[in-house]
Amino acid sequence: MYLSPELNVKKLYELYLEKYEKDMFDIYGLKDKKHLFRPKVTYDFYFRYFKANFNISFGSPRSDTCKTCDEYENKLKLPLPDEELNQIKTSKQLHVSRAQVFFDALKEKTEEAKNNPEVEVLCFDHQQNAPLPKVPSGDAFYLRQLWVFNFCIYSAKTGISHFYMYDETTGKKTPNETISFLDHYLKNIMSKDVKTLYIFSDNCAAQNKNGSLVQYLFTLAQTKQFQSILHRYPEPGHSFLPCDRSFGVVEKALRKMERIFTPQEYMTHYGKCSRNFEVVPVEQNMIFDFVNYLKPNFKKTVINQHRQKFAISKYKLILYEANSGIQCSESCNVPIYSTFNIQCSTLDTNTAPNQLYKEKLPLKKVKYDNVMVLANQYVPKNDLSYYEKLTFAQGNTGSDVEMTNDEETIE
Ligand SMILES: [Zn+2]
Repeated sequence: MYLSPELNVKKLYELYLEKYEKDMFDIYGLKDKKHLFRPKVTYDFYFRYFKANFNISFGSPRSDTCKTCDEYENKLKLPLPDEELNQIKTSKQLHVSRAQVFFDALKEKTEEAKNNPEVEVLCFDHQQNAPLPKVPSGDAFYLRQLWVFNFCIYSAKTGISHFYMYDETTGKKTPNETISFLDHYLKNIMSKDVKTLYIFSDNCAAQNKNGSLVQYLFTLAQTKQFQSILHRYPEPGHSFLPCDRSFGVVEKALRKMERIFTPQEYMTHYGKCSRNFEVVPVEQNMIFDFVNYLKPNFKKTVINQHRQKFAISKYKLILYEANSGIQCSESCNVPIYSTFNIQCSTLDTNTAPNQLYKEKLPLKKVKYDNVMVLANQYVPKNDLSYYEKLTFAQGNTGSDVEMTNDEETIE
């Protein structure tokens, strides 16, 4: 289980004191009163009890270290026969070099995009959800909060990160949102001179590595909007992208802000963090049902002439070109492509996809109640109108997005 990244054991301990040993909490941290500090439960005891009894971590499951690398390191410390150790060493080197290929390609293509008007490199990803209302109180950690989402599209040509920002009542984090924002970006923001597009994203199946995105990119290539699109996926565990650097800048600035009450406030802050950040406020009329729009044109199960089944989670490279099926490679260093014909009818490109949501999305009742408790207690009158417009769903339906980010596809 993961708790908010804003928490740690010390903070939890302070919350405990605040709630159950109020007199101790008041002198906690005051140096000159240290000799008066004799709480019933000491920090040492609290810490040991917490580690021994709860399997809880803080922050996002996406960490800076790589699980696979850690596992190899641990195995190499075992008293194993030399032969086995050498094998592990080789596997580890292979894993690390595969990771490096991705970053070398990103660097190389970035240079190309800067010098050639017909080439662009895009990276995209969702940031960790931001809470509303954001308040410095312990209550916020026990109650459900409303989330603000940020989908970043980074251009290597301009160095600009566009932040598509919206709250939980405007949209979700499904392939439809990813494709809608990408489509918006390609039509409205990217230079029309671009003919060759390189995409670098992580392996998150829900957003960046799924059949609908493949169908969308395939359609772009077939309708000759691009000569070619090459989508590269990193080695799992090594997916730090320029978007993550932008998120780091934003999160550092946010740590200094104790109170944020509306999505607009987040948008203003994010936009101010750097002159390379542009915020695109998302409205529901920007989110389309691409999934159902694309689906009828494509085969349900895809098998190529060598009877291989199309298995997206395995691929490190997917190449889209006009007048060709999609070309997929499991190896990233020297690509070995297998071609798959995914299309089953002539592409119907005259119609447009329908708007996905017709009205603001209701929250789950429990979430709505929690959010309103916080809003009524902490949000100033001027900003309350945002919360008064929230709605909840009857029964057990409605939006109740969890804190944690979606994990990468396990391969
Ligand atoms: Zn690794």
